Amino acid sequence: MITVSSKDFLQIPILEFIISAEKVAHVQLGNNAEHALLVLTKTGYSSIPVLDVKYRLQGLISSQQITDEILGLEHIEYERLPDLKVDDIMKKDIAVIHVDEKFQKGLDLLVDNPYICVVDDEKTFLGILTRRVILKQMKKYLYQAQ
Ligand code: AMP
Repeated sequence: MITVSSKDFLQIPILEFIISAEKVAHVQLGNNAEHALLVLTKTGYSSIPVLDVKYRLQGLISSQQITDEILGLEHIEYERLPDLKVDDIMKKDIAVIHVDEKFQKGLDLLVDNPYICVVDDEKTFLGILTRRVILKQMKKYLYQAQ
């Protein structure tokens, strides 16, 4: 059996573990909050990436951010959803990882984030690295080391 040292394991390129962009649910700049909420609800994800027309990453939007935005004093103002743009609600200050990074960097970032968006030099969105995928790899590695 081939065993990998933990040092080598941490140096594996993240490229092998990315969920590619075409499989990732997203919304675009200019989309309204109603559309974003629909995508989030249908997919069951708590947050998804926001991309521009050139597929560059601009931020993340979550159902919690949207609900927060339409929370009135007496009730939730659903009627405002069509007029709100994701651009004005999304979180712009987000953790990203470059596609050439290694497992260790991904692991560090995933401690505080359920998933990390993967980008290239032009900020083009290439996919995501999720906690689930990284944990699966760690499980494989730890079990084989026993
Ligand atoms: P997981 O580790 O698979 O539970 O994924 C963690 C988070 O990553 C989810 O809650 C979503 O916000 C995001 N995510 C995972 N897979 C996708 C996907 N295919 N499209 C969009 N977001 C995703």
